[in-house]
Amino acid sequence: MRAAPLPSLAELKAGDKRVLARALAAIETQAGSLALAQLLDAACAAGRACVIGLTGPPGVGKSTLASALVARFRARAETVGIVAVDPSSRRTGGALLGDRARIATDPADQGVFVRSMAARDRLGGLSDQAVAAMVLMRAIYDRVLVESVGIGQSESDISFIVDTLLMCIQPGSGDSLQFMKAGVMELPDIVVVTKADMGRDATRARADVEGALALDAGERGFRSAVVLVSATSGAGLDDLEAAIAQHRAWLADGARLVDRRSKQQDAWVEDAIRARFGSAGLVAARGIAPRGKGPFTIEREIARALAARLGI
Ligand code: GDP
Repeated sequence: MRAAPLPSLAELKAGDKRVLARALAAIETQAGSLALAQLLDAACAAGRACVIGLTGPPGVGKSTLASALVARFRARAETVGIVAVDPSSRRTGGALLGDRARIATDPADQGVFVRSMAARDRLGGLSDQAVAAMVLMRAIYDRVLVESVGIGQSESDISFIVDTLLMCIQPGSGDSLQFMKAGVMELPDIVVVTKADMGRDATRARADVEGALALDAGERGFRSAVVLVSATSGAGLDDLEAAIAQHRAWLADGARLVDRRSKQQDAWVEDAIRARFGSAGLVAARGIAPRGKGPFTIEREIARALAARLGI
């Protein structure tokens, strides 16, 4: 049976959710095809959305916060794509939460699209599908939210697909704070202390986070913001949006955003080649990396060349 033809980027941009669903399905069914690589590269070059990552331990309030942010974006008629990455078992490879959207949105709203998917072993946790879904949505919508469970090292995985990384911390739980103090994790751009309606615990958590951040030498040149938010009451959401806009403005100054995305693309290619051909494959790939093409075409060409050499 022939696979359904891929939509073009122009068709995707017209905004029909069924067309995006078809392209997302093709990421799996047409993996490795030239047409898919070309579509993803075209989308990559057309990336317009502000991509916001939301991470933190289970129960911290990520989905509630994501729903509140989406409601605010939609109230301003901004369109939103959401990639919700679920922790998954290596054995089954399936999403623990299935395809159930935990983020509350109106299914009849054409301006918001939610896709849940399993984390797998790429980029230490993000799947090829998550990368490709983000790339497609970034070309279509005004905003893209990537939600992923994580604490400690896995924060840096999501930083490979977002422009602005928010890490959520629950008042009264020192978990994330320990990682920050220990310098285990890459610092988020914004630390969100959730459930601010919990009173003193929340203000104490903010003071703790600010203390931990003061230890940071600030190599990145951007000082992480700390925001106290209650997604249920709405308190602090204005501050959070202001902090997101501030980071965005910092990225837009000079070539920072372009540099950040370009480093991310290099990491996707490297990671994909390493996942399939190991470290030796990665060394061999250095000699054959084609120039002047998008990351998905580059990855495909390197993979084909290596496979041909190995006779597989
Ligand atoms: P996630 O696992 O990080 O996505 O967390 P959820 O968004 O599912 O929230 C976990 C629990 O915390 C739920 O029972 C929420 O109702 C609750 N919660 C989320 N945000 C707030 C908040 O701002 N204040 C309070 N008091 N509870 C919240």
